[in-house]
Amino acid sequence: MGKITREKVVLLTVVLVLVISSIFIRYKLAINPVNLLQGLNIWETQEKVVDIEVNPSQNLGGTVDGGGRYEIGEEVTIVANPHSNYNFVGWEENGEIVSQREEYKFYCEQDTYIQAVFKLDYDKIGDSVFIDGSYLLALVTKDTNIGNYHPDDLVELPKHVLARPQWSYFLRQEAAEQLEKMWTDAKAQNITLYVASAFRSYETQQQVFGENVVKYGEKIANQRSARPGESEHQLGTAVDFSEDSEGRLVQSFEDTQAGKWLKDNAYKYGFAMSYPEGYEDVTGYIYEPWHYRYIGVDSAKQWYNSNKPLSEFLKQHPQRFVRNNERASN
Ligand SMILES: [Zn+2]
Repeated sequence: MGKITREKVVLLTVVLVLVISSIFIRYKLAINPVNLLQGLNIWETQEKVVDIEVNPSQNLGGTVDGGGRYEIGEEVTIVANPHSNYNFVGWEENGEIVSQREEYKFYCEQDTYIQAVFKLDYDKIGDSVFIDGSYLLALVTKDTNIGNYHPDDLVELPKHVLARPQWSYFLRQEAAEQLEKMWTDAKAQNITLYVASAFRSYETQQQVFGENVVKYGEKIANQRSARPGESEHQLGTAVDFSEDSEGRLVQSFEDTQAGKWLKDNAYKYGFAMSYPEGYEDVTGYIYEPWHYRYIGVDSAKQWYNSNKPLSEFLKQHPQRFVRNNERASN
């Protein structure tokens, strides 16, 4: 019946109140007096813009959008996109989680650095997880581990590329082929690349790290070498170049013809410099102008254009995992 009852009037009133109050709340937020005041202040001091920097946290797991330059008081929306196998934990600012929403909106007041924290979902992946070392873009750092991965397509490098041809060195097939191509092109320009180190097994790495601990102590050993499972050399795609046939690895390599040539050209063959100068805090390694890693030609070009240290570039790519160290038996 179309009769106007008391109930209908009450209901309509309630709805009206709700609508009006929600509009009021939005409107009031939009002209928040704090923002208005700051807007005026900023005008006077000519600092109208702020930088909102967003990054995925060290433990990788996803990508983020929405960082950039904003005007004071402007509404910012940042978005976290976890990779599969990862859960989004929250947005962290100054060590505190400020929001647990993947899409987080706030009004900017000052330069802000926010990290998206992602966590591996062990229910999805099993409880003993290693980065899959066979993946060319595998992230290998002091926080990630490839277990005792052992490549199954290693080939021996030809003697003419070696600093010490009396020894044997191995790389994965594709990396070895690209290395030889690179070596030949460099040679055509009268530049000799001496390979001083290539694949190192889990066991060898255990030995190298152990020797460095004896020599320098654990802390220095960790800056100069990697623990087993944490070395790019275990991937079978990393190469150290020396400046002469003695095979020494020294920072002055950057000033040699070979060092300069590699810095400018290695990416064209799929090789990236893993530990650049000025990023010691990010990579955890001293500057190693001699250490290159094969990641594929297309990826190396993207890496080169990104101007990022290799580890930061790799964090932008979803990682692959192996459970329970499937290759552990060898
Ligand atoms: Zn190396």
